[in-house]
Amino acid sequence: MGSPTLANLPTEILTLIFGSFCLHCCGVHRQLCGLGTLQQHQQQRQAQQQREEQKPNERSWYSLERQPLLSLCLVSKRTRDVAQPILYHEFVLGYGDSWRSKAYSWDGRLASFTRTVAQRWDLARYVKVVSIHSRLLDVVQEDEARIALMEGAHSLGIDLLSAWTQRKPDPSRDEKWILDFPEFLVSFLNKETKHTRRVQRRLTLSFEYPRAPGQRIIATELAAVLIAQLPNLDRLTFQEPFTEDSCLGPFPPSALPYLNISSLPLKTLDLGIPSLPLLERATGLETLNIQRCDFPSPIPPLPNLKVIRIANLNLSDSQLQNLLVSCTGNLRTFVYEAVLEELAEKQIYRCASNAPTWVRGRNELLPGLPAIGGAILR
Ligand SMILES: [Zn+2]
Repeated sequence: MGSPTLANLPTEILTLIFGSFCLHCCGVHRQLCGLGTLQQHQQQRQAQQQREEQKPNERSWYSLERQPLLSLCLVSKRTRDVAQPILYHEFVLGYGDSWRSKAYSWDGRLASFTRTVAQRWDLARYVKVVSIHSRLLDVVQEDEARIALMEGAHSLGIDLLSAWTQRKPDPSRDEKWILDFPEFLVSFLNKETKHTRRVQRRLTLSFEYPRAPGQRIIATELAAVLIAQLPNLDRLTFQEPFTEDSCLGPFPPSALPYLNISSLPLKTLDLGIPSLPLLERATGLETLNIQRCDFPSPIPPLPNLKVIRIANLNLSDSQLQNLLVSCTGNLRTFVYEAVLEELAEKQIYRCASNAPTWVRGRNELLPGLPAIGGAILR
């Protein structure tokens, strides 16, 4: 019997080996147990991975670790057939602190991934984890966005131009943009459309510089089209590292309805931007992490939610009450980390893991709610 080689190893063994190059297969995206805060979990994860801090002048550690999977797709049909599904488990460019690498190019990544899953439904169904980093949105270009939007919508059976013609003004937009929003969208898709001088000016300026309001609108629409195409997406992250120049816009409220998406398969949602349309459609959501963003309102029913972790968010008692009341069935863990000084002075609550009551006033806030293990920390 000859010595084992890649060519004669059973597929199950190859899958195990190749999976070691995928954070998803290694369980890195799984929620950690316990009452740790978001920051504590992040630190714990970094400690587990025993990785040095990403240096800006070095190549992205994440890209380097993904390279073997890419290479395996080119070795032979056999290795490609095993490696490719694993490669598509996640789209989390800039994961951890790897976004700090200045050697990494973000250009075209969001549009090309959106086009790939539009053209390859067999690959779209492998995608389990997506993280939309602000850098991805910053570099979205006009022409690539138009093509990716059209192809993505087409794969969903949607005539995007016709659908967007029916879009309503978006009240979450900057005041100057509310009225022009539907006209801007249609004009963006079809430059032959007759439009007002004001919209013409918006179009001209929209891609003149990164993060211009028009560019941001189109980039978030592109993110919505991507999400709409992923039937098995378990975890979606819409958070950004806190830097002065980063600015994710709100998730477009009417994007998903016009793509005929009424539900999302998400189990875990990490929110760093206002994203009520995602919450409304993720009815099977089990874990919700929110930080540094406007609190979604009104909170839709979250019947399957088991874990909520909140950080860097100033919640009033009524907001807190609305959130917890909307968790109608399975909430077991609640962690609120308030770091704002004024809030911390008013509310310093601590309790042990699995404690049946909060130190102050669970009954004040939620009379009749079953006991939850929870902590509100400074
Ligand atoms: Zn994987």
